[in-house]
Amino acid sequence: MASKSKERKNRKKLKCSECGTVNYFVKKNHVLQNRLELKKLCKTCDSKHTLHKETK
Ligand SMILES: [Zn+2]
Repeated sequence: MASKSKERKNRKKLKCSECGTVNYFVKKNHVLQNRLELKKLCKTCDSKHTLHKETK
């Protein structure tokens, strides 16, 4: 049970930098110290590939 809340803590959101919609979740294990920025598909932006940034 305790491990569940730990997982939650380590989860980061990826937010579209154009419309601000949170489209993806990543585990913090995969993230380095740097802020994560990825080109991802955003359905809100007409299914375009936009830059998604890590947010809390
Ligand atoms: Zn978007």
